[in-house]
Amino acid sequence: MTGLRDSGVNPKLAVILVGEDPASVLYSRSIEKSCGAAGVEFVLFAMPEKSSEDDVIALLQRLNTDDSIHGIMIELPLPPAMNKQKVLQAVSPLKDVDGVHPVNRGYILSNGEGLFPTTPQSCIEIMVRNGIEINGKHAVLVGRGETVGKPLIFMMLNQNATVTVCHTRTRDLPGHTRLADILISAVGKAGIITADMIKPGAVVIDAGINSVPGGGICGDVDFVNVEKVAGVISPVPGGVGSITTSLILKNVIKAIALQQNENKGGK
Ligand code: NAP
Repeated sequence: MTGLRDSGVNPKLAVILVGEDPASVLYSRSIEKSCGAAGVEFVLFAMPEKSSEDDVIALLQRLNTDDSIHGIMIELPLPPAMNKQKVLQAVSPLKDVDGVHPVNRGYILSNGEGLFPTTPQSCIEIMVRNGIEINGKHAVLVGRGETVGKPLIFMMLNQNATVTVCHTRTRDLPGHTRLADILISAVGKAGIITADMIKPGAVVIDAGINSVPGGGICGDVDFVNVEKVAGVISPVPGGVGSITTSLILKNVIKAIALQQNENKGGK
């Protein structure tokens, strides 16, 4: 960040939190902490649960045109009464550090210079950091949700994996998962991935987050038993979720570059 500051840019991230969803409150705190450690200015806009869509969009429009703000992130889920798509479309694609705007979603398909969502990015980053080859591997994704599974389809294709996608209508889920060199679960059901569904030696990445009765979180994978069959496995907590905040910061830096590029183009 020092280089950026030397050139007169003080990176600043705005996070919008509507309501008090406990996981979102914790995530905001963890982003604030990471920003503090990295020297990125952090500003939280906490709005009441009963705020209207128009209130959030008005704030977004203000932040979109504020040159001191380089990244904007909206904590999800939004209150059920809000039109999520309408709100997400109001974020400037150049400041959209969680990769939720349709323009950035489109860039995933074309592998273009956009801002990509951090949780699917994190699934890939874990493999890259651990020297796991993705190129040419058969990746089986369980879950096609908008946040994780769906963007991952194209992000894994961009890494030259051969991709199979499973969901609730998939017939014979274990038959598919057993063929996976890389199995990524993004479902949100504790224990849905069991040891008998894993090819021995496979890479297992668990993006699921589930509450554990009595406190804490766990993933989708039966970690204790799958660990005995898998070659590599990412834990929950301490796996996919643990690097998303650092990827948000990486996206802030990328956003600054995109904004500078846009400004140059406009002159
Ligand atoms: P989502 O939109 O709820 O999607 C869940 C997906 O799982 C759907 O595609 C659904 O299939 C599929 N599914 C449900 N039950 C299934 C079953 N029995 N067999 C096969 N597929 C099944 O979820 P999301 O928002 O993408 O999130 C996925 C998980 O990632 C959640 O646990 C979420 O908490 C977690 N997450 C983690 C992070 C992190 O930082 N680590 C961040 C965001 C989300 P259909 O499409 O057919 O319904």
